[in-house]
Amino acid sequence: MRTRITEMLGIEHPIVQGGMQWVGLAELASAVSNAGGLGILTGLTQPTPEALQKEIARCREMTDKPFAVNLTILPTIKPVPYEAYAQAIVDSGIKIVETAGRNPEPFLPPFKAAGITVIHKCTSIRHCLKAERIGCDMVSVDGFECAGHPGEDDVTNMILLPLAAKRLKIPFLASGGLGDGRGLAAALAMGADGINMGTRFMATIEAPIHDKVKQKMVEASELDTALIYRTLNNTARVFKNSIAEKVLEIEAQEGPTRFEDIQPLVQGTKGRELFDDGDLDKGIWSAGMIVGLIDDIPSCEELITRIVAEAEEIISQRLGQMLSA
Ligand code: NAD
Repeated sequence: MRTRITEMLGIEHPIVQGGMQWVGLAELASAVSNAGGLGILTGLTQPTPEALQKEIARCREMTDKPFAVNLTILPTIKPVPYEAYAQAIVDSGIKIVETAGRNPEPFLPPFKAAGITVIHKCTSIRHCLKAERIGCDMVSVDGFECAGHPGEDDVTNMILLPLAAKRLKIPFLASGGLGDGRGLAAALAMGADGINMGTRFMATIEAPIHDKVKQKMVEASELDTALIYRTLNNTARVFKNSIAEKVLEIEAQEGPTRFEDIQPLVQGTKGRELFDDGDLDKGIWSAGMIVGLIDDIPSCEELITRIVAEAEEIISQRLGQMLSA
Protein backbone atom coordinates (compact mmCIF):
# COMPACT_ATOMS: atom_id res chain seq x y z
CA MET A 1 0.00 0.00 0.00
CA ARG A 2 1.36 3.36 -1.01
CA THR A 3 -0.04 6.54 0.52
CA ARG A 4 1.18 10.09 1.00
CA ILE A 5 2.27 9.05 4.46
CA THR A 6 4.32 6.01 3.43
CA GLU A 7 6.07 8.26 0.91
CA MET A 8 6.72 11.14 3.31
CA LEU A 9 7.90 8.95 6.17
CA GLY A 10 9.84 6.48 4.01
CA ILE A 11 8.05 3.43 5.44
CA GLU A 12 6.67 0.29 3.79
CA HIS A 13 3.21 0.07 5.43
CA PRO A 14 0.83 2.92 6.44
CA ILE A 15 0.97 1.95 10.13
CA VAL A 16 2.46 4.15 12.85
CA GLN A 17 2.93 3.17 16.49
CA GLY A 18 1.45 5.65 18.97
CA GLY A 19 3.62 7.47 21.50
CA MET A 20 2.88 5.69 24.79
CA GLN A 21 4.22 6.66 28.21
CA TRP A 22 6.43 3.83 29.65
CA VAL A 23 5.84 1.60 26.59
CA GLY A 24 7.60 3.51 23.82
CA LEU A 25 11.09 2.10 24.44
CA ALA A 26 13.62 1.01 21.82
CA GLU A 27 12.43 -2.65 21.96
CA LEU A 28 8.97 -1.75 20.64
CA ALA A 29 9.88 1.17 18.37
CA SER A 30 12.58 -0.84 16.58
CA ALA A 31 10.30 -3.87 16.20
CA VAL A 32 7.58 -1.76 14.56
CA SER A 33 10.08 -0.05 12.26
CA ASN A 34 11.76 -3.35 11.35
CA ALA A 35 8.31 -4.69 10.42
CA GLY A 36 7.84 -1.82 7.94
CA GLY A 37 5.78 0.55 10.10
CA LEU A 38 6.96 3.64 11.96
CA GLY A 39 8.08 3.01 15.54
CA ILE A 40 7.98 5.86 18.05
CA LEU A 41 10.10 6.39 21.18
CA THR A 42 8.23 8.28 23.92
CA GLY A 43 10.35 11.28 24.91
CA LEU A 44 9.08 11.71 28.48
CA THR A 45 9.48 8.02 29.31
CA GLN A 46 13.17 8.90 29.58
CA PRO A 47 13.94 10.72 32.85
CA THR A 48 16.24 13.33 31.25
CA PRO A 49 17.03 14.70 27.77
CA GLU A 50 20.44 12.96 28.01
CA ALA A 51 18.73 9.63 28.69
CA LEU A 52 16.53 10.23 25.64
CA GLN A 53 19.62 10.73 23.49
CA LYS A 54 20.97 7.40 24.77
CA GLU A 55 17.65 5.66 24.03
CA ILE A 56 17.70 7.08 20.48
CA ALA A 57 21.23 5.71 20.04
CA ARG A 58 20.08 2.31 21.41
CA CYS A 59 17.15 2.24 18.97
CA ARG A 60 19.50 3.03 16.08
CA GLU A 61 21.48 -0.09 16.98
CA MET A 62 18.28 -2.14 16.79
CA THR A 63 16.98 -0.85 13.45
CA ASP A 64 18.30 0.91 10.36
CA LYS A 65 14.76 1.92 9.37
CA PRO A 66 13.13 5.31 10.16
CA PHE A 67 11.70 5.82 13.64
CA ALA A 68 10.30 8.89 15.43
CA VAL A 69 10.19 10.49 18.88
CA ASN A 70 6.99 11.61 20.66
CA LEU A 71 6.96 14.83 22.69
CA THR A 72 3.74 15.19 24.73
CA ILE A 73 2.97 18.50 26.40
CA LEU A 74 0.23 17.97 29.01
CA PRO A 75 -0.10 18.71 32.73
CA THR A 76 2.54 16.78 34.70
CA ILE A 77 3.25 16.36 38.39
CA LYS A 78 6.89 17.46 38.03
CA PRO A 79 7.79 20.32 35.63
CA VAL A 80 9.34 19.04 32.38
CA PRO A 81 12.19 20.88 30.57
CA TYR A 82 10.47 20.59 27.16
CA GLU A 83 12.98 22.82 25.32
CA ALA A 84 15.85 20.59 26.46
CA TYR A 85 13.96 17.46 25.28
CA ALA A 86 13.31 19.17 21.90
CA GLN A 87 17.00 20.07 21.64
CA ALA A 88 18.02 16.48 22.45
CA ILE A 89 15.77 15.29 19.62
CA VAL A 90 17.33 17.76 17.18
CA ASP A 91 20.88 16.99 18.33
CA SER A 92 20.28 13.25 17.88
CA GLY A 93 19.49 13.73 14.21
CA ILE A 94 15.91 12.44 14.49
CA LYS A 95 13.95 13.23 11.31
CA ILE A 96 10.34 12.57 12.43
CA VAL A 97 8.66 13.92 15.58
CA GLU A 98 5.15 13.33 16.91
CA THR A 99 3.96 16.23 19.09
CA ALA A 100 0.84 15.95 21.25
CA GLY A 101 -1.11 17.63 24.02
CA ARG A 102 -0.70 21.29 23.24
CA ASN A 103 0.01 23.69 20.36
CA PRO A 104 3.52 22.70 19.13
CA GLU A 105 4.20 26.14 17.56
CA PRO A 106 7.12 27.07 19.88
CA PHE A 107 8.99 23.93 18.80
CA LEU A 108 8.42 24.21 15.07
CA PRO A 109 11.29 26.62 14.25
CA PRO A 110 14.05 24.33 15.64
CA PHE A 111 12.37 21.20 14.24
CA LYS A 112 11.88 22.73 10.78
CA ALA A 113 15.43 24.12 10.74
CA ALA A 114 16.65 20.56 11.38
CA GLY A 115 14.56 19.19 8.49
CA ILE A 116 12.24 17.28 10.85
CA THR A 117 8.82 16.08 9.66
CA VAL A 118 6.28 17.01 12.36
CA ILE A 119 3.16 14.93 12.99
CA HIS A 120 0.85 16.67 15.48
CA LYS A 121 -1.78 14.66 17.35
CA CYS A 122 -5.17 16.43 17.38
CA THR A 123 -8.49 15.55 18.97
CA SER A 124 -10.59 18.10 17.07
CA ILE A 125 -10.87 19.56 13.59
CA ARG A 126 -10.10 23.07 14.84
CA HIS A 127 -6.79 21.80 16.22
CA CYS A 128 -6.04 19.99 12.93
CA LEU A 129 -6.62 23.18 10.95
CA LYS A 130 -4.43 25.15 13.33
CA ALA A 131 -1.67 22.53 13.04
CA GLU A 132 -1.85 22.78 9.24
CA ARG A 133 -1.76 26.59 9.38
CA ILE A 134 1.33 26.76 11.60
CA GLY A 135 3.27 24.36 9.36
CA CYS A 136 2.91 20.82 10.73
CA ASP A 137 3.55 18.30 7.96
CA MET A 138 0.74 15.92 8.92
CA VAL A 139 -1.67 15.31 11.75
CA SER A 140 -2.82 12.28 13.66
CA VAL A 141 -6.59 12.58 14.15
CA ASP A 142 -7.40 11.14 17.55
CA GLY A 143 -11.02 10.02 17.91
CA PHE A 144 -12.96 9.58 21.15
CA GLU A 145 -12.17 5.81 21.10
CA CYS A 146 -8.48 6.45 21.75
CA ALA A 147 -6.38 5.65 24.80
CA GLY A 148 -4.85 8.44 26.81
CA HIS A 149 -6.17 11.93 26.23
CA PRO A 150 -9.15 12.15 23.82
CA GLY A 151 -9.83 15.85 24.53
CA GLU A 152 -13.17 17.11 25.78
CA ASP A 153 -15.35 17.08 22.63
CA ASP A 154 -16.19 13.34 22.51
CA VAL A 155 -16.38 13.11 18.70
CA THR A 156 -15.68 9.66 17.25
CA ASN A 157 -13.54 8.88 14.23
CA MET A 158 -16.64 8.14 12.11
CA ILE A 159 -17.15 11.92 12.07
CA LEU A 160 -13.63 13.26 12.62
CA LEU A 161 -11.99 11.39 9.74
CA PRO A 162 -14.39 12.45 6.94
CA LEU A 163 -14.27 15.99 8.34
CA ALA A 164 -10.47 15.91 8.22
CA ALA A 165 -10.63 14.63 4.62
CA LYS A 166 -12.94 17.49 3.66
CA ARG A 167 -11.03 20.27 5.36
CA LEU A 168 -7.32 19.41 5.41
CA LYS A 169 -4.74 19.63 2.65
CA ILE A 170 -1.97 17.91 4.60
CA PRO A 171 -2.13 14.11 5.01
CA PHE A 172 -3.49 12.60 8.19
CA LEU A 173 -3.37 9.40 10.20
CA ALA A 174 -6.45 7.93 11.84
CA SER A 175 -5.83 7.29 15.52
CA GLY A 176 -8.08 5.70 18.14
CA GLY A 177 -10.07 2.48 17.82
CA LEU A 178 -7.67 0.98 15.29
CA GLY A 179 -6.08 -2.44 15.52
CA ASP A 180 -7.11 -4.66 12.61
CA GLY A 181 -7.42 -4.79 8.83
CA ARG A 182 -11.06 -3.70 8.88
CA GLY A 183 -10.03 -0.57 10.75
CA LEU A 184 -7.19 0.15 8.32
CA ALA A 185 -9.45 -0.28 5.26
CA ALA A 186 -12.15 1.88 6.86
CA ALA A 187 -9.68 4.62 7.80
CA LEU A 188 -8.30 4.73 4.26
CA ALA A 189 -11.87 4.82 2.90
CA MET A 190 -12.64 7.79 5.13
CA GLY A 191 -9.71 9.73 3.74
CA ALA A 192 -6.82 8.91 6.06
CA ASP A 193 -3.39 8.09 4.63
CA GLY A 194 -2.60 5.59 7.35
CA ILE A 195 -3.32 4.57 10.92
CA ASN A 196 -1.75 5.15 14.32
CA MET A 197 -2.10 2.30 16.84
CA GLY A 198 -1.10 2.47 20.49
CA THR A 199 -3.06 -0.01 22.61
CA ARG A 200 -2.91 -2.73 19.90
CA PHE A 201 0.90 -2.56 19.95
CA MET A 202 0.90 -3.01 23.76
CA ALA A 203 -0.39 -6.55 23.20
CA THR A 204 2.63 -7.67 21.17
CA ILE A 205 5.58 -9.89 22.05
CA GLU A 206 8.03 -6.98 21.86
CA ALA A 207 6.07 -4.47 24.00
CA PRO A 208 8.25 -3.98 27.11
CA ILE A 209 5.46 -4.52 29.65
CA HIS A 210 4.44 -7.44 31.89
CA ASP A 211 2.62 -10.37 30.25
CA LYS A 212 -0.25 -10.01 32.74
CA VAL A 213 -1.07 -6.58 31.27
CA LYS A 214 -1.07 -8.02 27.75
CA GLN A 215 -3.23 -10.98 28.85
CA LYS A 216 -5.70 -8.64 30.56
CA MET A 217 -6.13 -6.75 27.29
CA VAL A 218 -6.84 -10.01 25.44
CA GLU A 219 -9.56 -10.86 27.99
CA ALA A 220 -11.05 -7.33 28.06
CA SER A 221 -14.16 -6.16 26.25
CA GLU A 222 -14.87 -2.81 24.64
CA LEU A 223 -16.57 -1.79 27.91
CA ASP A 224 -13.41 -2.11 30.00
CA THR A 225 -12.12 1.45 29.70
CA ALA A 226 -13.01 4.50 31.80
CA LEU A 227 -12.70 8.26 31.35
CA ILE A 228 -10.94 9.88 34.29
CA TYR A 229 -9.92 13.52 34.98
CA ARG A 230 -13.12 14.73 33.29
CA THR A 231 -13.65 17.15 36.15
CA LEU A 232 -10.14 18.56 35.64
CA ASN A 233 -10.53 19.20 31.90
CA ASN A 234 -7.69 16.75 31.24
CA THR A 235 -9.79 13.67 30.34
CA ALA A 236 -7.87 10.41 29.95
CA ARG A 237 -9.14 7.02 28.78
CA VAL A 238 -7.60 4.29 30.94
CA PHE A 239 -8.18 0.63 31.69
CA LYS A 240 -11.13 0.31 34.09
CA ASN A 241 -9.33 -1.22 37.10
CA SER A 242 -10.03 -0.63 40.80
CA ILE A 243 -7.83 2.49 40.84
CA ALA A 244 -9.69 4.10 37.93
CA GLU A 245 -12.95 3.33 39.77
CA LYS A 246 -11.61 5.00 42.94
CA VAL A 247 -10.64 8.09 40.94
CA LEU A 248 -14.15 8.23 39.45
CA GLU A 249 -15.67 7.99 42.94
CA ILE A 250 -13.57 10.95 44.12
CA GLU A 251 -14.48 12.93 41.01
CA ALA A 252 -18.18 12.23 41.60
CA GLN A 253 -18.07 13.77 45.09
CA GLU A 254 -19.77 17.11 45.54
CA GLY A 255 -17.72 20.22 44.78
CA PRO A 256 -14.70 20.71 42.53
CA THR A 257 -12.11 17.91 42.33
CA ARG A 258 -8.64 18.84 43.54
CA PHE A 259 -5.81 17.07 41.68
CA GLU A 260 -4.02 16.61 45.02
CA ASP A 261 -6.85 14.29 46.12
CA ILE A 262 -6.23 11.84 43.28
CA GLN A 263 -2.52 12.34 42.68
CA PRO A 264 -1.35 9.44 44.91
CA LEU A 265 -3.59 7.09 42.89
CA VAL A 266 -2.67 8.27 39.39
CA GLN A 267 0.99 9.22 39.50
CA GLY A 268 2.83 7.92 36.47
CA THR A 269 5.52 6.17 38.52
CA LYS A 270 2.85 3.77 39.86
CA GLY A 271 1.73 3.06 36.28
CA ARG A 272 5.30 2.24 35.39
CA GLU A 273 5.59 -0.20 38.32
CA LEU A 274 2.33 -1.82 37.18
CA PHE A 275 3.80 -2.39 33.71
CA ASP A 276 7.02 -3.76 35.25
CA ASP A 277 5.61 -6.15 37.85
CA GLY A 278 2.15 -6.99 36.45
CA ASP A 279 0.18 -5.86 39.53
CA LEU A 280 -2.86 -4.70 37.57
CA ASP A 281 -4.29 -2.55 40.38
CA LYS A 282 -1.16 -0.68 41.36
CA GLY A 283 -1.94 2.45 39.36
CA ILE A 284 -3.66 3.59 36.20
CA TRP A 285 -2.72 2.61 32.66
CA SER A 286 -3.90 4.06 29.37
CA ALA A 287 -5.97 1.77 27.15
CA GLY A 288 -8.35 2.44 24.27
CA MET A 289 -11.69 0.89 23.36
CA ILE A 290 -9.81 -1.31 20.88
CA VAL A 291 -9.11 -3.70 23.80
CA GLY A 292 -12.49 -5.20 22.83
CA LEU A 293 -10.99 -6.32 19.51
CA ILE A 294 -7.66 -7.68 20.77
CA ASP A 295 -7.57 -11.51 20.85
CA ASP A 296 -3.89 -12.39 20.75
CA ILE A 297 -0.30 -11.34 21.46
CA PRO A 298 1.58 -11.61 18.16
CA SER A 299 4.97 -10.17 17.19
CA CYS A 300 4.89 -6.70 15.62
CA GLU A 301 5.87 -8.28 12.31
CA GLU A 302 2.98 -10.78 12.43
CA LEU A 303 0.53 -8.06 13.47
CA ILE A 304 1.49 -5.55 10.78
CA THR A 305 1.63 -8.20 8.05
CA ARG A 306 -1.79 -9.50 9.07
CA ILE A 307 -3.43 -6.06 9.23
CA VAL A 308 -2.13 -5.07 5.82
CA ALA A 309 -3.16 -8.42 4.28
CA GLU A 310 -6.66 -8.16 5.78
CA ALA A 311 -7.11 -4.60 4.55
CA GLU A 312 -5.87 -5.49 1.06
CA GLU A 313 -8.29 -8.41 0.91
CA ILE A 314 -11.21 -6.23 2.02
CA ILE A 315 -10.41 -3.55 -0.53
CA SER A 316 -9.68 -5.84 -3.48
CA GLN A 317 -12.14 -8.68 -2.71
CA ARG A 318 -15.10 -7.68 -0.55
CA LEU A 319 -15.41 -4.09 -1.78
CA GLY A 320 -14.12 -4.85 -5.28
CA GLN A 321 -16.74 -7.57 -5.76
CA MET A 322 -19.52 -5.20 -4.73
CA LEU A 323 -18.59 -3.01 -7.68
CA SER A 324 -18.10 -5.79 -10.21
CA ALA A 325 -21.28 -7.68 -9.20
P1 NAD B 1 2.43 12.35 35.79
O1 NAD B 1 2.89 11.30 36.76
O2 NAD B 1 3.13 13.67 35.82
O3 NAD B 1 0.86 12.62 35.99
C1 NAD B 1 -0.06 11.53 36.05
C2 NAD B 1 -1.33 11.91 35.33
O4 NAD B 1 -1.95 13.01 35.97
C3 NAD B 1 -1.11 12.34 33.86
O5 NAD B 1 -2.15 11.80 33.08
C4 NAD B 1 -1.20 13.85 33.91
O6 NAD B 1 -1.71 14.41 32.69
C5 NAD B 1 -2.17 14.07 35.05
N1 NAD B 1 -1.91 15.32 35.74
C6 NAD B 1 -0.74 15.72 36.29
N2 NAD B 1 -0.87 16.93 36.87
C7 NAD B 1 -2.16 17.31 36.68
C8 NAD B 1 -2.93 18.46 37.03
N3 NAD B 1 -2.39 19.45 37.72
N4 NAD B 1 -4.23 18.51 36.64
C9 NAD B 1 -4.77 17.50 35.94
N5 NAD B 1 -4.11 16.38 35.59
C10 NAD B 1 -2.82 16.29 35.94
O7 NAD B 1 2.45 11.82 34.30
P2 NAD B 1 3.28 10.63 33.62
O8 NAD B 1 2.53 9.35 33.78
O9 NAD B 1 4.72 10.71 34.04
O10 NAD B 1 3.18 11.04 32.09
C11 NAD B 1 3.92 12.15 31.57
C12 NAD B 1 3.07 12.88 30.56
O11 NAD B 1 2.70 12.00 29.49
C13 NAD B 1 1.77 13.40 31.16
O12 NAD B 1 1.56 14.70 30.67
C14 NAD B 1 0.75 12.45 30.65
O13 NAD B 1 -0.54 13.05 30.53
C15 NAD B 1 1.31 12.07 29.31
N6 NAD B 1 0.73 10.81 28.88
C16 NAD B 1 0.23 10.77 27.64
C17 NAD B 1 -0.39 9.66 27.18
C18 NAD B 1 -0.97 9.71 25.81
O14 NAD B 1 -2.13 9.50 25.64
N7 NAD B 1 -0.18 10.01 24.80
C19 NAD B 1 -0.47 8.52 27.96
C20 NAD B 1 0.08 8.55 29.21
C21 NAD B 1 0.70 9.72 29.68
